[in-house]
Amino acid sequence: MYRTIFNRRPIPLALLLIGGLACAKPATPTSETKTAIQKTYKWKMVTTWPKNFPGLGTAPERFAVAVKAMSGGRLDVRVYGAGEIVPALEVFDAVSRGTVEMGHGAAYYWKGKIPEAQWFATVPFGMNAREANGWLSHGGGLKLWQELYRPFGVLPFPAGNTGTQMGGWFSKEINTLDDIKGLKMRIPGLGGEVFRKAGGTPVLLPGGEIFTSLQTGAIDATEWVGPYNDLAFGLHKAAKFYYYPGWHEPGLVLELLVNQKAFEALPPDLQQIVQQAARAANQDMLDEYTRRNSEALSALVKEHGVQLKPFPDDVLKKFKELSAEVLQVERDRSEIGKRIYESYMAFQRASRSYQVVAEDAYQSVR
Ligand code: CA
Repeated sequence: MYRTIFNRRPIPLALLLIGGLACAKPATPTSETKTAIQKTYKWKMVTTWPKNFPGLGTAPERFAVAVKAMSGGRLDVRVYGAGEIVPALEVFDAVSRGTVEMGHGAAYYWKGKIPEAQWFATVPFGMNAREANGWLSHGGGLKLWQELYRPFGVLPFPAGNTGTQMGGWFSKEINTLDDIKGLKMRIPGLGGEVFRKAGGTPVLLPGGEIFTSLQTGAIDATEWVGPYNDLAFGLHKAAKFYYYPGWHEPGLVLELLVNQKAFEALPPDLQQIVQQAARAANQDMLDEYTRRNSEALSALVKEHGVQLKPFPDDVLKKFKELSAEVLQVERDRSEIGKRIYESYMAFQRASRSYQVVAEDAYQSVR
């Protein structure tokens, strides 16, 4: 019991409990452990976001500050924005090669290299942030994710969640499915595959290239995140129709990538600090978005005249049907793809049966 409650200081308490053992001494660290404990690690973290971009970019900065403070300066992580060391979409490779020790991004950016990674970003009509966190931390999701990245020498941890995103910015109204046909939209991941099946053309662009692409007409529509981040990029200046809900990204997980060898070379306390700081960053981003999205949405509508619109029911219904087809393709992609699919879908089904009598039921009467 004492070890559970006071698990930060197990040794002194254990000594107290057995009492009268003043002569008992903690185990002497080996010279190797001593060297690792005394060593200072200076690491680099590359990100897929513009430096200090609200929420997405500030989360890794806060993570680095927390890690440095918790480690007494022994693990010092310097954070780089997209393009400073490597371009946004080369973050995974840089961590895998060991060019840098850490990265921060979203798993669906690596779908060209690891299609199954998309499950660990977000899934159309899939789990929300609360459910995704439950699956990853307590439902076997993180184990599968780490298994998936292991051949690349990369260790992933959830390190941020945007919550349910918005449907995106469109320069013309979406009234029927015909309006999707031929539309060129920045929409990554599995949502992009659904959009393709609906007749559109999905494009993958890093955040920093979205505004100009939309403004110049290189793309007709874009999704980014939600009001807080979309306002920061000024997307309302490039398109006036703002659609909801973000059927394609119901709870985007951001990931911390750690070079496996570098992580394994850390002493156990620093490994634990990295994991706990990631967990704190994961929750903190969701908390910040909960605070900022509502005020940003109000500013977009009241101050910038944005037209807020729901997707038509039949369009959403079609997206949902097509999503199921896309997920079947992903399931059949590989042996691990099948295991991820089964784990994800089983968790979602089980969660749903409870959520309808808990969160959903409460929201509907609030
Ligand atoms: Ca998005």
